[in-house]
Amino acid sequence: METNLNRLKSTIEAMSNFRSEDGPGISRFSYSRDDLKARKYLTDICKELGLTVRIDAVGNIFSRYEGQNPSLVPVLSGSHIDSVKSGGMFDGIVGSVGALECARVMKENNYVPMRPLEIVFFAEEEGSNFQVPVMGSKVLVGKLGLDDLKSLKNQEGESAYSLIKRAAFNPDDIPNCVLKKGDYKASLELHIEQSVRLDLEGHTIGIVEGIAGCQWYKVTFRGKQNHAGATPMHLRQDPMCAASECISKVKYMAKETSRTAVATVGYIKALPNIPNAIPAEVSFTVDIRDIKNGAMDEIAEKLLAEANKAAEENGCGVTCELGASSRAIEIMPYMMRVMEQEAKQLGLDYIFMPSGAVHDSNYMAEVTDVGMIFVPSIDGRSHVPEEKTDFSHVKLGADLLLNTILRLTAE
Ligand SMILES: [Zn+2]
Repeated sequence: METNLNRLKSTIEAMSNFRSEDGPGISRFSYSRDDLKARKYLTDICKELGLTVRIDAVGNIFSRYEGQNPSLVPVLSGSHIDSVKSGGMFDGIVGSVGALECARVMKENNYVPMRPLEIVFFAEEEGSNFQVPVMGSKVLVGKLGLDDLKSLKNQEGESAYSLIKRAAFNPDDIPNCVLKKGDYKASLELHIEQSVRLDLEGHTIGIVEGIAGCQWYKVTFRGKQNHAGATPMHLRQDPMCAASECISKVKYMAKETSRTAVATVGYIKALPNIPNAIPAEVSFTVDIRDIKNGAMDEIAEKLLAEANKAAEENGCGVTCELGASSRAIEIMPYMMRVMEQEAKQLGLDYIFMPSGAVHDSNYMAEVTDVGMIFVPSIDGRSHVPEEKTDFSHVKLGADLLLNTILRLTAE
């Protein structure tokens, strides 16, 4: 069995017609008129295939392809069908239409898997309405509740609760749609890479080996503000010197700790920030990300050690505060093994790579084993009207998704 390139292409192109009139690119916000049309288009296809369609409290759509043994927990596969404002036609749609294509191929081959398959189309992944990304999957895993939806407001001041209700879904049913561990055997998502690596290095498939978490530190050096001309060098307590010495080490902390780690100083502030005084205080942020929680902790320890050293050498005080953080999600080794075996079988040019962005899979990982497949984004561009992926690459990704689904639903 293999996926059908022309059908993938025509379905993705058909989805791109469901978009708001204003502005370039694709603007299809969840619960909008265009979103409701797109939903009907997809669910009609699912119903024609004989799948059982179920729509939950916030509009996540589940279409079940029954297995020989309906009592086995299903494998889930899909992605989101909403977009950012003036986004592209591939983000989310490749994984949604890709999963649908797998069901279509299985059906036309009269193939009945042992275990059921459920296709999912997630709602409100981009956070376009309420600036809360991955809302659909957060609700599914119990990270957002009814009260949250009542307090979230869009730019017009309408609550998520009200907007969802107006779109004819039933948010009051949220408590009944929260998933438990073990409700699904696995969850698989095909997605565009949204970055440059696959395109630049000329690979067609990225098998995600982990979903990055982050630790966000604010480092503040405090010294003694004084005259830039009259204070001799050996009598200074200069927090700018301390900060720069520490910042210059940050890239080595990441590189020397983990192949997949990144660390970034993206914000810096000096007080009082004038040219003719040694500053009183310099603060900056360090954004640490990796797919290994242990490596992020190790980088944070190195940061603390370097900050203390720089403070001491410059006669300053220092504090390191952890702000926002999220745990990295480690992909189960069996999942990567299955995908790698199937990729080899298909003769695909694949690499293992981390996922740096937030996807529905990040949250699904709370309740099941997740797997993700990336296909190249041309020039690494996404969330722009020019977002593009070669349809032949979409097909290769969908073929790998199909074979992985066949493996995981076979027993
Ligand atoms: Zn996406």
